[in-house]
Amino acid sequence: MKRVYIIGGGAAGFFCAINLAKKNPSYKITILEKTTKLLSKVLVSGGGRCNVTNQCFEISDLIKNYPRGSKELRSVFSKFALQDTIEWFAQRNVKLHAEADNRMFPTSNNSQTIIDCFLDEAKKYGVTIQTKTDVKEIKKQNDKIVLSVIVNDSNAQELIGDAVVVTSGGFNQEKAYGFLQGTQHTIVKPLPSLFTFNIPNDSVTQLMGLSVPNAKVKVAVTNYLFEGPLLITHWGFSGPAVLKLSAYAAEYFHQKSYEAAIHINWLNKEYEEIKLALEQLQKQQHKALPKNTNIFVLPKRLWEHILIKADLNNDKPWSEITKKSINKLVEVLFADAYTMRGKTTFKEEFVTCGGIELKEIDFKTMQSKKMNGLHFAGEVINIDGITGGFNFQAAWSTAWVAANSI
Ligand SMILES: Cc1cc2nc3c(=O)[nH]c(=O)nc-3n(C[C@H](O)[C@H](O)[C@H](O)COP(=O)(O)OP(=O)(O)OC[C@H]3O[C@@H](n4cnc5c(N)ncnc54)[C@H](O)[C@@H]3O)c2cc1C
Repeated sequence: MKRVYIIGGGAAGFFCAINLAKKNPSYKITILEKTTKLLSKVLVSGGGRCNVTNQCFEISDLIKNYPRGSKELRSVFSKFALQDTIEWFAQRNVKLHAEADNRMFPTSNNSQTIIDCFLDEAKKYGVTIQTKTDVKEIKKQNDKIVLSVIVNDSNAQELIGDAVVVTSGGFNQEKAYGFLQGTQHTIVKPLPSLFTFNIPNDSVTQLMGLSVPNAKVKVAVTNYLFEGPLLITHWGFSGPAVLKLSAYAAEYFHQKSYEAAIHINWLNKEYEEIKLALEQLQKQQHKALPKNTNIFVLPKRLWEHILIKADLNNDKPWSEITKKSINKLVEVLFADAYTMRGKTTFKEEFVTCGGIELKEIDFKTMQSKKMNGLHFAGEVINIDGITGGFNFQAAWSTAWVAANSI
């Protein structure tokens, strides 16, 4: 009989425990959870609907959604990826459906469905769940792993396992990784990822609620740029283009203390293309006023905002508008400049980048290269995805590989 401890009763912890217990009925498997709550992030995830995964079948496309860990996930996903996730849940009567943007949710649109599924499965396969058990230290003793834990806030105990899986999730402070010190693993400094941009004291925020379907957002003087839907909020900018940028440039934004010049290409078109369209418009509709000729079909109030920035929101028809003014309008449409000053957490989903150094894990088994028998899965590793179900997919896949290798 093998004794396995799983540290953390979250997404990766449950997925690992269930798969391990199903394959190995003789193993004694215990989930150790420091709080009184199980699967608490699953409950609030995806606005209470749990965005379980993303309908991205090709592994080569799937890995592109991970600013950190994409190379390492290739081998993990070759063992367990999207199709396996869909089937895993379907076999347990949890059907998933995809939305237009490829995010997949349980058809109940309720995260409780996922929680109930995990709790039922854990019970069915005899997984022991111990809450209020805080793991404080992990050390190796001969061929066993010893965990020092505090139970019910006061009772110190030692638990001895043949294998241990760390599924403690990510933390926003370095010192929270202290319980891993005895494992000799390097912790890549945790930083926030998936946040929206604050643009304080800018009239653009008066356009809150407006969105464009395909903008390009760029961090000035860097190569960080992303395209996609952009949403104007009462504090600044949000939407997929901004969230992707926040994830890929997480370290850059941190270095700059979340103050950076941002350029928005409202149309996601080339400079020359915009210029040509405006010059043709001027020729064809010379009597019309710019405010009445919104050729790019931008939201009306946004078009007016852009014209104000280009000093064109007046009663002059196109025929009276100078070349210089046209160039200014092209500039605003192509690279509208804003200053990001601070960030706001994206409530639907947020993650930490940082965690266990990737080089110190064997991704074929999810086993530590520093301590035999110790494994990692989920967000504790320096892997994070962009928003859209990719973070849970990484949790399911790494947990599945850890369970199978044990
Ligand atoms: C508001 C919000 C919404 C989200 N929505 C989505 C979404 O819809 N789709 C998506 O893909 N991702 C989403 N995410 C990200 C996703 O929730 C995480 O990536 C995922 O939960 C990571 O799973 P995990 O098991 O690694 O860690 P967690 O789910 O964080 O679980 C870790 C568990 O370990 C416990 N623990 C920690 N340290 C110890 C210790 N020393 N001893 C014992 N127990 C310990 C913690 O208390 C916790 O219960 C969201 C995140 C947030 C915050």
